[in-house]
Amino acid sequence: MRPLQMVDLKQQYQKIKTEIDAAVLGVLESTAFINGPAVQRFAAALAQYNGAKHVIPCANGTDALQIAMMALDLQPGDEVITPSFTYIATTEVIALLRLTPVFVDVDPKTFCIDPAAIEKAITPKTKAIVPVHLYGQAANMDEIMRIASAHNLYVVEDNAQAIGCDYTMKNGGVRKTGSIGTIGTTSFFPSKNLGGYGDGGAIMTNDDALAEKLRMIANHGQKVRYYHEMVGCNSRLDTLQAAVLEIKLNHLDEYINARRSVADYYDKAFANHPAITTPFRAGYCRHVFHQYTLILEGIDRNGLHDYLAARNVPSMIYYPVPAHRQRMFEAFGSAATNLANTDWLTERVISLPMHTELDEEQLHFITSQVLNYCNQ
Ligand SMILES: *Cc1c(COP(=O)(O)O)cnc(C)c1O
Repeated sequence: MRPLQMVDLKQQYQKIKTEIDAAVLGVLESTAFINGPAVQRFAAALAQYNGAKHVIPCANGTDALQIAMMALDLQPGDEVITPSFTYIATTEVIALLRLTPVFVDVDPKTFCIDPAAIEKAITPKTKAIVPVHLYGQAANMDEIMRIASAHNLYVVEDNAQAIGCDYTMKNGGVRKTGSIGTIGTTSFFPSKNLGGYGDGGAIMTNDDALAEKLRMIANHGQKVRYYHEMVGCNSRLDTLQAAVLEIKLNHLDEYINARRSVADYYDKAFANHPAITTPFRAGYCRHVFHQYTLILEGIDRNGLHDYLAARNVPSMIYYPVPAHRQRMFEAFGSAATNLANTDWLTERVISLPMHTELDEEQLHFITSQVLNYCNQ
């Protein structure tokens, strides 16, 4: 059996090596390392794929969030509603910009921000909602967009974990996550569903004026070179990454299907086990399984992690400390916030290996080991 990994980038690379190597060598030959032709080609292809009018490539998913938030002209102290049950980047950029993160609870089934909790957290200072499509499943965007429009709030979708996720709106229209809110952001970190061979990110919007502003902010606030109209930053997707991503985007749907097959296998193996809850699949979207995350009840979760590790089966806790309990946010008094579902999930979730290269022998081994522990 091939050794198990949370993500197997090597095996995936081997399958597209000829294409990738040629593209990378092409960039080296051209020496167009910054803003080479592949960058705009990839941005256009991603806009087409995602059904977004504009895609602005940038250096990573954290920058994408920061630039998105900078473009909204928020003032220090303005409140931004976000889940605590997420990767730190989502919440960190809010504080970095001197805005106030307001942490709300998640729906324990979808792991995503709970619309009812958003409504309760709105104050006259609230300016934006930042939902996270966690583990590859969309937050309830119909509800979030309804609340946002009723209260005149911006919506920035953190789509770092759900690129390619189809969302069926209440009116029947199908949209990709990241193209529903005011702005969507994503990451091309190597382990993401569309991962480069280094860092990368992108911002997307359907709003022309906002797109121009996002582009300027990512480029030192300039539209015309050396004329800086606003304070921005320097955040670029480099050409080598764009060349890799251009190829991998063509495989994204096939990668999503491979992930979904792994999830189906896991679902079947764990079905009806009284202590294991397999991932809920919301009817409004097609889960792209960035992670496959179980909820364990009445089982020593850390014990399972160690048991698996001893048998060379990796597993991960995403995330061991929710944002509102991080020291980073002490000054916001966030630890006092009562987020019962977030705390409950934090104690019980465990993610199993999930990638495009898992075969049946590996899946059989992983699921047998998990069940051995849970049945002992
Ligand atoms: C990965 C990730 C980010 C940050 O992306 P980087 O490219 O690592 O900066 C932001 N939000 C979420 C939910 C992520 O998973």
